Amino acid sequence: MDFNKKRYKKINYCVQCGSKLEIKNDYEKKLRPQCNSCGWTYYKNPIPASACVILNEKNEVVIIKRKFEPGIGKWALPSGYIEIDQDPEDCAVEEMQEETGLIGEIEKSLGYYPDFSPIYEKVISFGFLMRITGGELQAGDDAAEACYVSLDQLPYIVFPSHRYFIEEVKKFKHL
Ligand SMILES: [Zn+2]
Repeated sequence: MDFNKKRYKKINYCVQCGSKLEIKNDYEKKLRPQCNSCGWTYYKNPIPASACVILNEKNEVVIIKRKFEPGIGKWALPSGYIEIDQDPEDCAVEEMQEETGLIGEIEKSLGYYPDFSPIYEKVISFGFLMRITGGELQAGDDAAEACYVSLDQLPYIVFPSHRYFIEEVKKFKHL
């Protein structure tokens, strides 16, 4: 199967009119699924997500055991996809509370990191160092477990972007 056929394997019908899509060159000579009936073009873009590095006063970091794919059953930072009405910062604050029960605010932006996604092909993660302002640590609806762990006893963290953000915080905090 050629690369574009594989990339667009499950993109078959126009979301505007329901007609069958055909992979052909657009005006930039890039192959994309397009609708012959209404002209709609499907663009596949990286999906933005936010991830939180949350430290307590002992510099232990909050990790969660993932309840959903990707990475189900594996350890990761609290994280989630950015909703259409959110900025990366809003998403980080919301995911922190939803997954860990902790209320927080942004202390520092950690930049971004592109990750492979088995679902979306590519996710771009925005990382934030969070400051805890309230709440108590407990696994929320989106997490199977949530706990503090010291940085030298971290289990395997499933996403490269999350490992990168943890390293950024270690450098920033001299840990
Ligand atoms: Zn159409």
